Amino acid sequence: MDRLFAANEKEIRDAYTTDVYFERTNKILNSKGLGEADVWAEFTLGSLPKKWPWAVLCGTEEVLRLTEGMNVDIFGVPEGTIFRTRSPKGIRVPLMNIHGRYTDFGEMETAMLGMLCHPSGVATAAARVRCAAKEKKIMAFGNRRMHPAISGVLDRSAYIGGCDDVASKIGADIIGKEAAGTVPHALMLMMGSDEAAFRAFDETIEKIVPRIMLIYTFSDEREASINACKIVKDLKGVRLDTPSSRRGSLKEIIQEVRWELDSKGYKNVEIIASGGLNENSIRELMGSGVSGFGVGTSISNAPTLDISMDLVCKNGSAISKKGKFGGRKYTYRCPRCLSMDVSLSENDSITCSCGSGMEPFETPLLKAGKRVHNRSPAEIRKYVLAQLKQLGEL
Ligand SMILES: [Zn+2]
Repeated sequence: MDRLFAANEKEIRDAYTTDVYFERTNKILNSKGLGEADVWAEFTLGSLPKKWPWAVLCGTEEVLRLTEGMNVDIFGVPEGTIFRTRSPKGIRVPLMNIHGRYTDFGEMETAMLGMLCHPSGVATAAARVRCAAKEKKIMAFGNRRMHPAISGVLDRSAYIGGCDDVASKIGADIIGKEAAGTVPHALMLMMGSDEAAFRAFDETIEKIVPRIMLIYTFSDEREASINACKIVKDLKGVRLDTPSSRRGSLKEIIQEVRWELDSKGYKNVEIIASGGLNENSIRELMGSGVSGFGVGTSISNAPTLDISMDLVCKNGSAISKKGKFGGRKYTYRCPRCLSMDVSLSENDSITCSCGSGMEPFETPLLKAGKRVHNRSPAEIRKYVLAQLKQLGEL
């Protein structure tokens, strides 16, 4: 059987996925006796896509898993930090600093950036959906729009950004929860009717799995929802998946179904909306009686962030390419308004524009290849939500 195109873990660790110019750089440096130089490299970005005012850093844990055992030190802001890209003076805020011999980690640049850039975009998109959906349930359904090799990465990022549940089994294992899902239209089509599918699901699937029936394969939303209530005794909810071609006003459809459910005694049955939703359409559906959302492409297809890795210090002296700021820098954050600033000193006294004193914010992540930082996805997600609340976004 021919191999699939996705790289496996060994290939990533062996730098088989790296850009070849890093391999050539190492070869040149070693041949010229410069491979021993002690350097600092920082991870920063100049601006965010889609005019986002802030982003969620995601993927640090995977970078640590990649670099564990290498002879490097890594410092950085904790994963899940909500950041702006630049300080008030326009200096790029270092999200991560790596220290060691360049030839010991340079070849990993492609992989390390890839582990941060897209996941941070996905976590940010999820956080924006969370801000729109407030306290309502959000399920991440977007894996099918991206390559299956990164399903776990996508689900972890979506969860960290604020989704409640994920659909893939690998993603659920990574975040330490049960995978969540409802029913695909294929089941209705195979069973021949909505009602037959509702009944078969209820008879076959373990009782621990919440009964959320899919509406809009054959029948009208109102009729199918009431039928689901009658057929499935412990029905938890109905998922309205009305296609855009039939939608008219999804908000009014939800309001009507909510009215019908309430008036027929099914007040506890939740309405989950899905199908091409994004932060804007979710905002419009709030207050319609909807209980939650299944969100796919708008999260998994989030724009990637242009984080770059740049050398800023060589053998103790500041260096940088044109357009970047040289020197090993330290990140500070205001505990009150979460603004960030940058200093060449780790003991600086910086006053935030809000009047509060800033605090050193960098934390050691890896020391001589040994892990000194560990946070579970649930802890990181909690940290993201706390910051969103502090910023007044939630
Ligand atoms: Zn402040």
